[in-house]
Amino acid sequence: MSEQYRCHTCHANFEITDNIWKCPKCGGLLDLVKEKVVLDPTKWKDREASLWRYIEALPFSNDSIGWRNVTMGEGYTPLIVLDESEPHTFVKVDYMMPTLSFKDRGAAVLIAKAKELGVTKVVEDSSGNAGTSIAAYAKRAGIACDIYLGKATSPKKIAQIKAHGATIHAIDGNREAVAAAAQEAVTEEQTFYASHVYNPYFYEGTKTYAYEIWEQMNTAPDSVIIPVGNGTLLLGAYYGFKDLLNNGLIMKLPRIIAIQAENCAPLARAFANHKQTAEPVENAGTEAEGIAIAAAARSEQILAAVRETNGEFITTSEEEIIAAREALASKGFYVEPTTAANYAGYLKYKRQQHEMIVIPLCGAGIKAN
Ligand SMILES: [Zn+2]
Repeated sequence: MSEQYRCHTCHANFEITDNIWKCPKCGGLLDLVKEKVVLDPTKWKDREASLWRYIEALPFSNDSIGWRNVTMGEGYTPLIVLDESEPHTFVKVDYMMPTLSFKDRGAAVLIAKAKELGVTKVVEDSSGNAGTSIAAYAKRAGIACDIYLGKATSPKKIAQIKAHGATIHAIDGNREAVAAAAQEAVTEEQTFYASHVYNPYFYEGTKTYAYEIWEQMNTAPDSVIIPVGNGTLLLGAYYGFKDLLNNGLIMKLPRIIAIQAENCAPLARAFANHKQTAEPVENAGTEAEGIAIAAAARSEQILAAVRETNGEFITTSEEEIIAAREALASKGFYVEPTTAANYAGYLKYKRQQHEMIVIPLCGAGIKAN
């Protein structure tokens, strides 16, 4: 599969190189343009239970084997009924991944691509889970790794990153200051920005979330509930369901029900006000650190995706997040507050009778404080 970068703002195309991460002309975000993805489910069933069973749909040549030295078996996570009293609601247990969060989908694909490009060092900024994931896969691939994070990041996540030998840069400032520090380093050192926000290869990994749901259900659900900060999973799922639609495997896109924490909800506000892009907000503080994004770089794409699916936004309070975490634990699932925020959103969602819904359990509870 051959691909190029295309600027989301000015639509200029660029060759894929190891040190381009935004449009050199206008500073816009880069998307990936590629040949049409052809999905052939008959090829999947005999393959290994990981996201690499969809290799033809991933941005590597079909005979590419480089990923074999990078993969840790990520993907193809269980999809199960949440509770027999709610037979139409499924959870996809995406914390059953090598580093205990769904971010491994994106990190595995992104680092495999970095390896293919001959990259020797990557830089990433993160509120925690993406950083731990990139650190793990970079180490496995023999690539040096610098992770920028906020000083308030969960000590458990910092310990996890350190264990993989990454260099940690703890920044005294908000999430946006952390990203700015990483981007400055990337520009100065001309290194590879392994960003789960800017680098479109990350979404090539998270799109497999949709393929797996389709394969496991033999159809698409009516709705998917997705927590959103930077849109890592939301945009990936959207791209994945679009591929399924374009291949005639589904007749319509599932509604995307996007969940934000009430205390940091720039996208929900923009959606309610019918805006095309989200203005930054002040983060008033939330336990759901994974979606505490006050200024979402891809807000235009996220808002458009939710609108296209006839979806909606729901916000959840801190009290609701805490209660939802306890409720999930009482069903056997110990999750991070970010995942609890998502479940809290599901509990507030006014669904139709027999509406089939999938909820991701994104991060393991043991990663949080
Ligand atoms: Zn541009």
